[in-house]
Amino acid sequence: MDRVKGKAAIVTGGASGIGEATARLLAAEGAVVAVADIDDANGRRVVKGIKSSGGAADFWHLDVSNEAEVAAVFAAVYKKFGKLHILVNNAGIAGYPKPTHETSVGEWDKVINTNLKGTFLCVKYAVPYIKESGGGSVVNLSSIMGLIGGGDPVYHASKGGVRVMTKSDATVYAPDNIRFNSVHPGFIDTPLYRKLAQKRSPGKVEEEIQGRGASVPLGRIGKPEDIARGILFLASDESSYITGAELVIDGGFTVWPAGR
Ligand code: NAP
Repeated sequence: MDRVKGKAAIVTGGASGIGEATARLLAAEGAVVAVADIDDANGRRVVKGIKSSGGAADFWHLDVSNEAEVAAVFAAVYKKFGKLHILVNNAGIAGYPKPTHETSVGEWDKVINTNLKGTFLCVKYAVPYIKESGGGSVVNLSSIMGLIGGGDPVYHASKGGVRVMTKSDATVYAPDNIRFNSVHPGFIDTPLYRKLAQKRSPGKVEEEIQGRGASVPLGRIGKPEDIARGILFLASDESSYITGAELVIDGGFTVWPAGR
């Protein structure tokens, strides 16, 4: 309890999966949370759940790839909360598992604009408010796919970009007392992961999840809460000497990809 008491946070993509678990946990630990997402119905559902558990939160419709929306929403959040200390850049979409020469410019732009440009825009418009609030913590959702290459080139590129942008911003904003760290989830059971599993193995999502889990050293795929707990640590003052770091939360998959 109270690990982020008194702080104000924005969680992008807060209506689902990892973002939802993060918004709920930050609120349970005392932060006032702006849930920002393109999915209004689920965003409002998350806020309702937080409020009914005694937490503080509000929903804002936000497309992170739209500069005008980011500017307007962040200004509105700051006006309403009067402070901003935590930004969780979580909104993201899957890529296209096909070779680069078969990837269209439209597909490339869609993934880069959401995952990379969206992170850039949110940092751009959050930093002035975090500075005015005396400093804080930015947590960027990369992926284990941002550490290695693979068959989804545009997704890897977007998440690799997020990883290095995090380290650059950590350097630039350290004098302003704003820390930047990236989180690198492995396979996590969220609506996004289930959609991909359904595409890979139509009608056999549970089997796909069991099979993938069996290939992870800890014997299962992750839960959104496994990632939210890492994000909470990086968002809180418990990590006050950590900046520019990358926190891999993948059940050991990248250190032992051959599995159990
Ligand atoms: P998710 O369940 O699909 O949740 C993502 C949320 O972001 C959804 O509500 C989605 O809305 C929203 N969103 C999509 N585009 C947006 C935009 N332009 N502006 C604002 N919100 C937007 O996904 P998740 O699995 O929790 O993933 C969260 C983050 O973790 C992503 O950055 C993802 O790349 C990363 N990650 C996930 C995994 C995994 O295995 N799940 C692994 C590594 C990294 P819609 O549902 O309407 O699209």
